[in-house]
Amino acid sequence: KMHNTIMELKGNIRVFARVRPLTEPEASQESAAAGSAGSILSFPGGLEASTIQVDTGAKDTFSFSFDRVFGPMSSQGAVFEEISQLVQSALDGKKVCVFAYGQTGSGKTHTMMGTSNAETDLAGMVPRSIQQIFNAAAELTRQGWEYNMRASMLEIYNEEIRDLLGNKLPQGKHHNIQHDTKGNTTVTDLTVVDVADYEQAQQLLSKAAHQRSVAKTSMNERSSRSHCVFILRLEGVNHVTGQTLQGRLNLIDLAGSERLSKSGATGDAMKETQAINKSLSSLGDVISSVSSGATHVPFRNSKLTYLLQPCLQGDSKTLMFVNIAPVKDSASESLCSLRFAAKVN
Ligand code: ADP
Ligand code: MG
Repeated sequence: KMHNTIMELKGNIRVFARVRPLTEPEASQESAAAGSAGSILSFPGGLEASTIQVDTGAKDTFSFSFDRVFGPMSSQGAVFEEISQLVQSALDGKKVCVFAYGQTGSGKTHTMMGTSNAETDLAGMVPRSIQQIFNAAAELTRQGWEYNMRASMLEIYNEEIRDLLGNKLPQGKHHNIQHDTKGNTTVTDLTVVDVADYEQAQQLLSKAAHQRSVAKTSMNERSSRSHCVFILRLEGVNHVTGQTLQGRLNLIDLAGSERLSKSGATGDAMKETQAINKSLSSLGDVISSVSSGATHVPFRNSKLTYLLQPCLQGDSKTLMFVNIAPVKDSASESLCSLRFAAKVN
């Protein structure tokens, strides 16, 4: 319990690092022969110490400390345990964002989605969060609370929003983001679905995953070049006290953070790279401006930060996973990710 107090003192932004295990080929004999096998990461003082050390093989080692560090053996359940309270605070009317940041292949989608069935060990934060919310909401009916929950799922690719729950493909619709004075956000023409229970939400996740995979065949690895945003809006009414509240939970699998080589990238590839770099750096700028109490926060610099504006300020809560691949070939990308995460923390 003590660590909760420490995190509260630190304000509303937390950063958790998660290192994925080596894949079989990464750990194999061939890699060993090439001198690239094994992890370049270590956890001085154990995972409890929340520090990651990167040994690039050169003279220097680098270390980074976060609110939590999860090693390669950490289960999805153990990771979720550390975010479940934060997720559940959406039922108290909080606005919550959970991001996964990292290069392609570092474990973002595994962490956020995993398998989409919350009943399995490999289920990620999204299905677990939804299940937790519905279970907790059911408990709260005893105290007079009734919740209306509505879900959306969208992708931001090249600074354009694409509806992942729409009925037709391709949609080619242009979506605008609008905020009202009460902090409610509307995305024009975006599908918003009433969800009554976990099973319905589960069907939406499957539908969105399907739409993403359809798009992937027409555009090379689009899923790693776009941000995927799950939004759950919760409206609570208490029939005993008359109290009302509006919570919002945003779960975001970010585009891969790797720096694509600038040479050779032309036309669409260049535009795509610039869009990703701009939105990830805007996200970092926004989070650090909010946490330092800056008077001007550049929400408008990207679609993602503008969409999430009401959920990144005030008494909202933000958690960022920085996902890390442990291999030598990823050393420089891992250092970039860790530096980014240390900056927002
Ligand atoms: P990203 O979404 O960042 O591109 P993925 O989530 O697709 O990365 O992960 C890359 C690969 O590593 C996948 O095969 C995934 O199943 C595996 N993986 C990632 N994290 C873990 C983990 N914590 N435990 C086991 N396998 C993992
Ligand atoms: Mg992914």
